[in-house]
Amino acid sequence: KKVLIVFGTRPEAIKMAPLVKELSKQKEFTTKVCVTAQHREMLDQVLDFFKIIPDYDLDLMKTNQSLNKLSARILNSIDSVLDDFKPNLVLIHGDTTTSSMVALASFHKGIKIGHVEAGLRTYNKFSPFPEEINRQITGRLADIHFTPTKQSAKNLLNEGICENTIHITGNTVIDALFWGLKNINKNRKDIKSLNSFILKDKKLIVVTGHRRENFGANFIEFCAALKELSFREDVQIIYPVHLNPNVQETVYKILSNISNLLLISPLDYEAFIWLLNKSYLIITDSGGVQEEAPSLKKPVLVTREVTERREAIDQGTVKLVGANKKKIVKEATLLLDNKEVYNTMIGNKNPYGDGKAATKIVNFIKGE
Ligand code: UDP
Repeated sequence: KKVLIVFGTRPEAIKMAPLVKELSKQKEFTTKVCVTAQHREMLDQVLDFFKIIPDYDLDLMKTNQSLNKLSARILNSIDSVLDDFKPNLVLIHGDTTTSSMVALASFHKGIKIGHVEAGLRTYNKFSPFPEEINRQITGRLADIHFTPTKQSAKNLLNEGICENTIHITGNTVIDALFWGLKNINKNRKDIKSLNSFILKDKKLIVVTGHRRENFGANFIEFCAALKELSFREDVQIIYPVHLNPNVQETVYKILSNISNLLLISPLDYEAFIWLLNKSYLIITDSGGVQEEAPSLKKPVLVTREVTERREAIDQGTVKLVGANKKKIVKEATLLLDNKEVYNTMIGNKNPYGDGKAATKIVNFIKGE
């Protein structure tokens, strides 16, 4: 059996790495990895950490490339990879332009498609944009759906997807996290230098933000909230700022030169999970970070209005605060000041998995 694993962005690479490792151990499969490199630098950092060498690298990233141009280039370039390798199964992940376009190309060629992290939905066409429609397109085209939770399986059932094609496996992000935590090199220069910024008697807030629907007014509001939180003397904030110029411009304008607020370049995964583990509280609009945090026993405030990840919110580990300055400050203050609220929030187990998702997915593929 020939399996082709395709991904293009940082989060996909993190979440597919455990599958690449697990599938590569199986003698009955020939597994190849193709990267579209929709992200370049951030993708390569993940490949290095997990020691994955792609068999095909389409190298499609260009600055300010429109989604249509990117889509066309993905369709165009994946075509010859599919012709060259002739896989029996293509595995794609989540909700990126890479996922939806590779699914379409595989469908055109009659190749079976397995969708990892299937079934997440907001049912809001524009939030997240373009991810919600990417995952719906991928879901329509996929033949096998590996969902992280019961809720995501239920979404697919409600859409009329056949029950015996849906498999609840947990999210491979937890497999990656557990492997990652065991393999951190604490002697790295950048980790050491971050460590020397972090003061033991302060509460560390780690921040990330990159969603397209938050660009502009929402980002200004979000930065204003961080600025207000930085006035507290018992707090330190570290914010690895996403490379998108829409993010960089606002963040550096509002948050530069604050002594207890450190703006840094995006960290590679190894340093980032080390940092998350050091945090007291996380403020983010990231999907993956919300899924990782419950395993690290860290509470998360999510700066979005809607989410496709309800599970940790329903159990209380994650709170939706929107991009609303007052609400962000109020909820963060509560967690900083009230240990009881804090402890209740982190007390639950991770609803997104137990670190064995990749094994479950591979066992299923073996039985196919
Ligand atoms: N991450 C990272 N470095 C950073 C910020 C995030 O390695 O500076 C990791 C994080 O641990 C998570 C993933 O990137 O596994 C999430 O990616 P992102 O927030 O870009 O995308 P999303 O999950 O929202 O699709």
